[in-house]
Amino acid sequence: MGEYPLIEVDLGKLERNARAIVDRCAALGIGVTGVIKGCSGLPECAAAMARGGCAHIASSRLDELAGARAHGVDLPTMMIRIPMPSEAADTVRLADISLNSELSTLALLDGEARKQGRRHGILLMAELGDLREGIWDRGEFLETAVAVERGFGGLDLLGIGTNLGCYGSIAPTAEKMEALAELAGLVEGELGRKLEMVSGGASTAFPRVMDRDMPGAINNLRIGENILIGRDLADLWGYDMGFLHNDVFVLKAEIIEAKTKPSHPIGEIMFDAFRNRPTYEDRGLRKRALAAVGKADYAWADHLLPLEEGIQLLGASSDHTILDVEDARRDLRPGDVVEFGLCYGPAVLLTHSPGVRIVFKGSPVA
Ligand SMILES: *Cc1c(COP(=O)(O)O)cnc(C)c1O
Repeated sequence: MGEYPLIEVDLGKLERNARAIVDRCAALGIGVTGVIKGCSGLPECAAAMARGGCAHIASSRLDELAGARAHGVDLPTMMIRIPMPSEAADTVRLADISLNSELSTLALLDGEARKQGRRHGILLMAELGDLREGIWDRGEFLETAVAVERGFGGLDLLGIGTNLGCYGSIAPTAEKMEALAELAGLVEGELGRKLEMVSGGASTAFPRVMDRDMPGAINNLRIGENILIGRDLADLWGYDMGFLHNDVFVLKAEIIEAKTKPSHPIGEIMFDAFRNRPTYEDRGLRKRALAAVGKADYAWADHLLPLEEGIQLLGASSDHTILDVEDARRDLRPGDVVEFGLCYGPAVLLTHSPGVRIVFKGSPVA
C-alpha cells in the first residue's frame, strides 16, 4: 500500500475540542460522554477525548469500545446503539452502560450480567419524535423502568435518555428537553429515588448549552461530531463555533493526472457510475486534476472541502476525485498532494476504509 491517501488526525486539536465542549457543559452541570463512532473508534481519539475531560467513551459498535479499552482508556464505556440480542454477552463484557428500549433484550443483559458477575448500567431510551430508538408509550416506559429497577438484579437503572436529530431531523428544542426532564420526574416518582443520569442527546442538543435554555434536570450529553469535526452547528445551524477546531481530520490525496480539458462532457449525457444524471457547467477549457481517492472511500464528494485556494471539487467516481485546478496557486502535477477538510460522513467512511492510512500528529495538551 502506498503512502496516500491518508488521513491526518491532530490529537492536540481533538483534545482541545473535547475540553472546550466539556468546560461549557460543566458550567451547566452537564457531563459529556465522548462518542467515537464518527472516527470508526480510533483508540487514539478515544484517549484524546479522555484527556479532554469526557466522563465516558461511547460507540454504537462494541469492537470500538473494546479497542478503546485495549488502548488503555479507562473511562466507563457506553454502548449507544440498542444492543442486538445476539450480542448481549459481549455488551455486558465490553460496555459498562448500554442504551435500551426492549424488555426482552434487558432480560438477556440481566442474565449475562449475573452470569459474568458484573453490574451493567442501563439508560432507558425515550422516543420523543425523531422516530429512531426509544419507547414512545409512557405507560410502557414507566413499566420498563420499574422492571429494570425491581426485577433485574444484575442491572442498574442509571437513568433515561433520548436521541433527536438523527432520522426524523427533529431539533432538540428546549421543549423536547423539558419533555425528557418531565419523564425523568415521573420515573423518579415511580422509583422513589433520583436518577443518576438524564441524557439529553447528541451534538445537536449542544445549542441548548450555548443558548443556556437546557432544563436543569438534564445532566449528560453524548457528543461526537462537535468534538471530532466541529462543523455542523456552524455550517447548518448558524452557531458561532469559532472555539472549536474544524480541522482535526485532514484528507491528503495524490494527484495522478493533471491536464487541460473541456469542462463540459462531450457526447450524449446518460448516467454516471452511481445512477445519477448530473448537469455540468461549460466553462470552456480548464486545467483539471485527478486525485487517487474516491466515493468508495468517502461516499459523499460534496462533503469534502478542498483546503487549497483555487482548487474546486467537481465530482468523483469510486476511486477518482475530479478537481478544477485552473485557478490553483501552483502548477499541479502527478505526485503532488492535495488536502481536504471533512464533514462527518466522509470522516466515518475514510477512517473505515482499509485503503486509507491513518497518521496521528499533535501531542497531549499540557
Ligand atoms: C451517534 C450518536 C450520538 C452522537 O452523535 P453526534 O452527532 O456524533 O454527536 C449520541 N447518541 C446516540 C444514541 C448516537 O447514536
